[in-house]
Amino acid sequence: MQNKNPCSIQIFKALKLGIVLFLGLAPLAISSESTPMKVLLIGWDGVRADALQQAYTPHFDSLIRNGSYSDSCWSVLPSRSGPGWTSILTGVSPAKHGVTDNKLSTWKVKEHPGLTRRLREAGYLGRIASVTHWAPLAQLNWEADYVIDFPSDSSVEVQARQLLSQTENSPDFLFLHFDDADHAGHTFGFHPYMPPYRLALEHLDQRLGRILATLKSRQNYDSEHWLICITSDHGGHYRHHGDDVPEDRRTFLLVQGPGIELGSRLGLAHSEDVLPTIMAFLGIRENALVYFDGIPRGISLERRFANFPVLENSVYKPSVYSESPIFQQAR
Ligand SMILES: [Zn+2]
Ligand SMILES: [Zn+2]
Repeated sequence: MQNKNPCSIQIFKALKLGIVLFLGLAPLAISSESTPMKVLLIGWDGVRADALQQAYTPHFDSLIRNGSYSDSCWSVLPSRSGPGWTSILTGVSPAKHGVTDNKLSTWKVKEHPGLTRRLREAGYLGRIASVTHWAPLAQLNWEADYVIDFPSDSSVEVQARQLLSQTENSPDFLFLHFDDADHAGHTFGFHPYMPPYRLALEHLDQRLGRILATLKSRQNYDSEHWLICITSDHGGHYRHHGDDVPEDRRTFLLVQGPGIELGSRLGLAHSEDVLPTIMAFLGIRENALVYFDGIPRGISLERRFANFPVLENSVYKPSVYSESPIFQQAR
């Protein structure tokens, strides 16, 4: 989805009180117990799986070899950014979460909350950060400890590397979203043999390489357990997307990390699988996964029975619902 809001928005939890709204980069400063179970969830907006196969993406390919991969991850309908990211971040289909366009105003957030609420209800104590290049994603992740939206992929990369290299108060769960490939598709055409589109995918891979290098240079990297998960919300054909055709719907899902099957081909997957996969990695028991339309993908049997840390609560607790301050402001 093209970015309609050129403003960078930074929102701390203080925004709940209507206090903070300003521009620019800043360190993440949230106090919370640290956890060794960490997640780097990367969203590449508008990336077709078949185009990714044609592009030169050595960093991504290395993760495929060392993780589990589906080149047939089906996005939801309509194959647009709003319903797509909402399904990825809630684990349910548009029929349940209610988002069918890019405004998110129909999101049934109380019945189908986003990943931060799901993780908190399951007992995850880590710091959660969202750094994106499409402002509505800040609404989807409004409950995270740190939320910021930028007008460019390069700013997302810079902020991501800054957060990951912080020695204190670094996020335990980092969601990154990059939008340049979708922009290239809308401008030049979504196609594996369209040079500007393929080049945009190669730039995504170069950013991935630099981010992974920063991750691996962390002081305590050897004692941390990082899940890396990369996916997309839809593909495209000609210069648009939104239809029920393979070009628009066939994206990919990559998971790599401790306890993830090595070199596994996942076959058919769905956008709704992303959140249950992450929660299974973090140790939630399987009986809590009935809330999702998707299923965990790539989690090894060894991981399921291993002595990894397990989330405190095996089932979700009812929680007090509070409305997004962004929605309140919009009215
Ligand atoms: Zn788009
Ligand atoms: Zn999109």
